[in-house]
Amino acid sequence: MMVREHYSLREWNTFGTEAKARWFAEFSRHSELAGFLREHPGMYRQILVVGGGSNLLFTADYPGLVLHPAMKGMTVEREDGEHAWVRAGAGEVWDDFVSYAVNAGWGGVENLSLIPGCVGAVPVQNIGAYGREAGEVIDSVRGVDLVTGEIWELSGAECWFGYRSSIFKQELAGRFVVTSVVFRLDKHPRLQLTYGELVSLAGYDRLPSLAEVRETVIAVRRKKLPDPAVLGNAGSFFKNPVVEEEWAARMKGLWPQMPLYPAVEGHAKLSAGWLIDQCGWKGFRRGDAGVHEHHALVLVNHGHATGREIFDLSQEIRFSVKEKFGIDLEREVQAVGRMD
Ligand SMILES: Cc1cc2nc3c(=O)[nH]c(=O)nc-3n(C[C@H](O)[C@H](O)[C@H](O)COP(=O)(O)OP(=O)(O)OC[C@H]3O[C@@H](n4cnc5c(N)ncnc54)[C@H](O)[C@@H]3O)c2cc1C
Repeated sequence: MMVREHYSLREWNTFGTEAKARWFAEFSRHSELAGFLREHPGMYRQILVVGGGSNLLFTADYPGLVLHPAMKGMTVEREDGEHAWVRAGAGEVWDDFVSYAVNAGWGGVENLSLIPGCVGAVPVQNIGAYGREAGEVIDSVRGVDLVTGEIWELSGAECWFGYRSSIFKQELAGRFVVTSVVFRLDKHPRLQLTYGELVSLAGYDRLPSLAEVRETVIAVRRKKLPDPAVLGNAGSFFKNPVVEEEWAARMKGLWPQMPLYPAVEGHAKLSAGWLIDQCGWKGFRRGDAGVHEHHALVLVNHGHATGREIFDLSQEIRFSVKEKFGIDLEREVQAVGRMD
């Protein structure tokens, strides 16, 4: 494993902010990493795994090793009349995998088209969009335990998937690097068309194809979300808060326009974007750090903002939402570095 020193992470985060990793390495074989961990016991305490950096904000240089799993490949492990089980390497671009599945006519991930990042981060984040979450189709996850160097295979159930959450962000945070994922795809796709612009597809006298669903999702995302290659961002900066139904009803009484979405039993999901917008942040800019002009949930780097400036802005937003609505916004983006 070739380890570089004082390596710029600007290309490794979609905010496009500058930060340096003390060490940086890519690996594409388990044995490379296992060998490295044997030679550097204790190093696991200072390892940050990075895929495409589309959910990270560096507020300072990283003092340890930034590790990128570069495993490629998509292979059918087995199939029957109903499903195909496909293993994808952690280093594959997620949207390439979605394209592969849709071209094969296999359903389950089409609503997750065009989400940036690599396959390895997908179970970590339990990515979701348009009423679908990746956890629904993840059969198993293989990876390396950074403490022992052993290879583990976890079933989908063992991953404890929740809203933008998994065991990899909890018990195994900082300890496990995903190297490949097996997805269980449907040969007879059951489309999920109840969200947003996909509803209009359900109105046809025939069901849309997987390709049509994918094209619609891509078109909507291109229209709504800034392309990180043009304007630095990491998608939704905060999670949508989930509150008890009773509380949500009281809030709705005070703010009748407040959107509410279904959540787990007895709870409702609020729109973090709406809350932020009500506090007047949409389109706000200070220096090069700002809030997107059409999407209050997306913080942006207009060019030369530092991670710290974006982070400080996010804290101001949190405080103002707390003050107005009494709600603590939780970051979806992972801030790495100093946060005091
Ligand atoms: C424009 C835009 C739109 C987005 N839209 C959505 C959306 O609709 N839905 C959604 O869910 N997300 C969305 N995101 C967020 C982001 O794309 C996802 O969270 C994505 O899964 C991150 O992948 P990544 O490879 O870039 O991960 P990174 O940002 O590199 O890492 C994210 C986290 O996962 C960990 N990680 C990454 N790879 C591994 C691995 N192999 N093993 C262990 N840990 C790992 C990292 O340590 C970090 O904690 C969006 C982002 C952008 C920029």
